[in-house]
Amino acid sequence: GTPLAILASIARAARSGAFVKDGTHMEQLARVDTVMIDKTGTLTEGQARVVAARPAGRSRSDLLGLAASAEWHSEHPFGQAILRAARDAGAPTTPPDSSDYRPGLGITAMIDGAAVAVGNERLVPVPPAVPAGWGAPSFPETPQEGTTQVHVSVDGGYAGSIDLADRVRDGAAAAIADLRGMGLRVVMLTGDSQAVARHVAAAVGVDEVRAELLPDQKHSAIEAERAAGHSVAMVGDGVNDAPSLARADVGIAVGSGTDIARESSDVVLVSSDLRDLVETFRIARRARRIVM
Ligand code: ADP
Ligand code: MG
Repeated sequence: GTPLAILASIARAARSGAFVKDGTHMEQLARVDTVMIDKTGTLTEGQARVVAARPAGRSRSDLLGLAASAEWHSEHPFGQAILRAARDAGAPTTPPDSSDYRPGLGITAMIDGAAVAVGNERLVPVPPAVPAGWGAPSFPETPQEGTTQVHVSVDGGYAGSIDLADRVRDGAAAAIADLRGMGLRVVMLTGDSQAVARHVAAAVGVDEVRAELLPDQKHSAIEAERAAGHSVAMVGDGVNDAPSLARADVGIAVGSGTDIARESSDVVLVSSDLRDLVETFRIARRARRIVM
């Protein structure tokens, strides 16, 4: 049966808002040496907002309206932010005839017979900048530090860029420092750009970063660490990362989470406060010391 100390630790963890599915997972938590943590929505608030829009040719309102039409059905924080910005700008929007979410890349849609794409450079190739002194403006401009730039194309032609900003969660840096103080290795995983990933990593004190990962590359990153003999916890908010939560030795879903996150994870943290994550590791380690 499950040792009493483990049962007691499950009850204690539950009182601090961490639901550990069973004793096995509590014991696995105590053995973890590598914490892989999702950036968007976990280290950051996951509430993006548009901070700049640079149309190539047409107006800012046209660019936002077009992007928002493509993102019409999007649940991604970037899609939500673009929809809000278009609404605030009074930009003209139309529901798309069809749209396809491309995880890790962006979204493609048919709007009034035109093929529109909104996403990173892997989805929307950026045209080379025009040399200085050649008259036409060079675009896109360098985004503000720490913001993610997405690009928009219409029938393959470059239509402009939109910069989005998210905020680092309060308490994230302190929690990362505590985890590292406990001897845990912390690795950030993200589909976002290298520049934004490094910016957030520096802000929270993570020194290992894997960026520009497609969803299946996140799985491979986790599997590679496990194959190298590490015991891996994956921490995510469940938006896009449910499959990764399922691949780790211990999948930890933070925040309200999605139903799928709750099903794919072994530990559910009710709040998004990463200090509760630290506390859960402490409880698991203490219980293991008592059992052994
Ligand atoms: P993360 O790993 O940080 O949760 P995602 O995998 O959700 O990030 O997205 C990775 C990248 O793909 C984003 O930084 C963005 O460039 C692009 N992207 C994803 N979804 C969208 C969207 N709905 N609209 C525009 N770009 C998107
Ligand atoms: Mg995410």
